[in-house]
Amino acid sequence: MNLVFLGPPGAGKGTQAVGVCEKYNLPHISTGDILRGEIKQQTKLGLEAKKYMDAGQLVPDEVVIGIVASRLTQPDCQNGFLFDGFPRTLPQAEALAEKVEIQMAVNIDVPDENIINRLSGRRVCKSCGATYHVDNHKGQTCDSCGGELIQRTDDAPETVANRLKVYHEQTSPLIDFYQSKGVLKSVDGTRSIDEVFAEICAILDKEFSK
Ligand code: ADP
Ligand code: ADP
Ligand code: ZN
Repeated sequence: MNLVFLGPPGAGKGTQAVGVCEKYNLPHISTGDILRGEIKQQTKLGLEAKKYMDAGQLVPDEVVIGIVASRLTQPDCQNGFLFDGFPRTLPQAEALAEKVEIQMAVNIDVPDENIINRLSGRRVCKSCGATYHVDNHKGQTCDSCGGELIQRTDDAPETVANRLKVYHEQTSPLIDFYQSKGVLKSVDGTRSIDEVFAEICAILDKEFSK
């Protein structure tokens, strides 16, 4: 199973990827998580990427494509993977297509009016990266590890508007890209986390039992 999750920031890609990867035993490859890891370790790459991320812009294609190319050589990718947040531009999608065949692109569809609330209420665990929302998680600590919950700096309202603009200009064309390859599946991302999960699993079970 070589999978890609598409969708605007805050669509629930990361939330769903965790459950799907656990259920189907796939490595979860989030370019956003990899970049935040580089920032935390203050690598040269991290310091470079941070400027773009804080502005709500995309990190340059060649940087992200390089990260993904090296990740794909790891042994855990041999039997499939799930990309969350990659590709985000046509050149990224084309570079990926040269390396591996993507069997399914799941587009998690959420309109802009829901995104503001999703991102402004998002909280992430500083220690393990687990994601919560203030509407359904009371308290300041992580359920799974007890770590402190923080707000991502790029979830500030000024940055969110820019990220949505960038999504519509640069990432949403990938819906047509994967549609034309015959591998696009769309799910209604406005339903509950459990309902979206059930819908994605039903699609995967049907497609991969063939
Ligand atoms: P979200 O979960 O809100 O969609 P991510 O964690 O996937 O956000 O990404 C956070 C930021 O990291 C993006 O706004 C962008 O600056 C950078 N980034 C992540 N993935 C990519 C990518 N594939 N191409 C370019 N920039 C990326
Ligand atoms: P993405 O990775 O696409 O940026 P996340 O998985 O981080 O999105 O989800 C963004 C925010 O929305 C988080 O606070 C998360 O808890 C919440 N969320 C995710 N899926 C749903 C859903 N189906 N309904 C309501 N809130 C959701
Ligand atoms: Zn945690």
